[in-house]
Amino acid sequence: MSSRNQQLFDAAQRHIPGGVNSPVRAFRSVGGAPRFFTRGEGPRVWDAEGKSYLDYVGSWGPLILGHTHAPTVKAVQEAAALGLSFGAPTEAEIEIADLLCDILPSLDMVRLVSSGTEATMSAIRLARGHTGRDLLVKFEGCYHGHSDSLLVKAGSGLLTFGNPSSGGVPADVAKHTLVLEYNNAEQLAEAFAKQGSEIAAVIVEPVAGNMNLIAPKPEFMQAMRELCSKHGAVLIFDEVMTGFRVGPQCAQGLFGITPDLTTLGKVIGGGMPVAAFGGKREIMEKIAPLGPVYQAGTLSGNPVAVAAGLVTLKATRAPGFYDSLAARTKQLTDGLTAAAKKHGVTFCAQSVGGMFGLYFSATPPTSFAEVMQCDKEAFNRFFHAMLEAGHYLAPSAFEAGFVSAAHTEADIAATIAAAEAIFAKGV
Ligand code: PMP
Repeated sequence: MSSRNQQLFDAAQRHIPGGVNSPVRAFRSVGGAPRFFTRGEGPRVWDAEGKSYLDYVGSWGPLILGHTHAPTVKAVQEAAALGLSFGAPTEAEIEIADLLCDILPSLDMVRLVSSGTEATMSAIRLARGHTGRDLLVKFEGCYHGHSDSLLVKAGSGLLTFGNPSSGGVPADVAKHTLVLEYNNAEQLAEAFAKQGSEIAAVIVEPVAGNMNLIAPKPEFMQAMRELCSKHGAVLIFDEVMTGFRVGPQCAQGLFGITPDLTTLGKVIGGGMPVAAFGGKREIMEKIAPLGPVYQAGTLSGNPVAVAAGLVTLKATRAPGFYDSLAARTKQLTDGLTAAAKKHGVTFCAQSVGGMFGLYFSATPPTSFAEVMQCDKEAFNRFFHAMLEAGHYLAPSAFEAGFVSAAHTEADIAATIAAAEAIFAKGV
C-alpha cells in the first residue's frame, strides 16, 4: 500500500500540472512524494499521515512567528467577519503603509500588491517609466518572481529543473535584461561603462536566497549604489525574502545601503497574500493614478491579508526580536557545522538574521557558479534522512532555509542531534 502522501500526490497530478501549484513543492529535485500538510502550530507542521516535522521552510519565509500565531489568526478571523474584500480603500492600508514608511527610511510611499512577483514586475515597470530607459540588470541565480523580464536565467525552481530560462518568454523581451554575476563589482562597473545611459534599473536580492544563501560582498553592494547614482539608474532591492527576515530594517538596514525602490512580500503578509513596492516619492508619484505608469489589483491591500501582515509586523518590533531570531538561527548553523566536522563530512552552513544556507562544500559559495559545485546528491540524501527523522528542510539544494521566533533552543538542538546521527552514519 502506498503512503497517504503518495496517494494524494497521485490524485493531485490528475488535474494539477505536476500535482502542485508552485514547482519546487513537487520534490523533483530531491525525489519522492511531497508531504501534504494538514496543519501547523508554532515551529511544527503535520502531514496527511499524522507525522509531525520541525519546519525550516515556514511557507518559504513568511511565517516568522511560526504557524497559527494566535494573535495573527484572531486578527484574520475578525477582519474576515467584517468583509473579505471591498475593492475600495480601508483604514488598515493606511496603517500598514505608515508603519512600513516609518520603519524604512528609504520608503516615502508604498503601494500594496498580492505577490512578490507583482511587486518586482511593477517596480521594474516604474523604474523604466521613470528613467525612460529599457535595460534591466539582474544577477545570475537571483529570483525575483516569474514575470517575463525576470525569467532570464533565473534561479529557484528553474535551477532545480536545470532550465537556464523559461519557455514562453519572447526573445524580444529577454534582450532587455542583462544577467551579470552576483558579487562581481568589476563586471557591473564594466556593464555601466558600456551601457550606463541605457540602464533603467539594477535589481538584486541583497542577500541571495534563491540559489541557497549567498551573502553579498560589501564592495559589491557599494558599487551597485554608486554606479546607479552616477548613471541615473534606479537601484531596486528585492527584499521580498530578506524584508523583516534578516533584521528590523531589512537588508538595507543591515548593510547601510539605501535603495531607490524596495520590494517586500512574505513576512509583511504573515502568511497571507500581501506584498509591496515603495521608495522615493519622485519615483512613486509616477504610478497611476498620480502618474503615467499603470499598475492595479482587484485584491491589492485585501483587508484580511493586511490584518495578518499588521499583527506580524508589529510583533517583530518587540525589543530584541531580531537578536534572538539571529542567535537561534546561528545556533542551528553552528551546530550543524560542528556536527559535520566531528564526523568528517564536507559541509558548512551560515546564517543572516533568520535565514540560513546549508552547503555540501568546504566553504560557503559566493556566486551561482560556486553553488553549482556543491554536492547536490549528498544534500538529497541528507534531506530525506532528516525528513524521515521529522525535520522538514527546503526540498532543494538551491533554497535558503528559515527559522521562526517559535523555534525554541530545544527544537534547534533536536534538529542538530538528528543531523549528527545522519552525519555519523556518513551521508
Ligand atoms: N523575489 C524574491 C527575492 C523571492 O524570494 C520571491 C519568491 N520566493 C519572489 C520575488 C516572488 O514572490 P511570489 O512568490 O510571492 O510571487
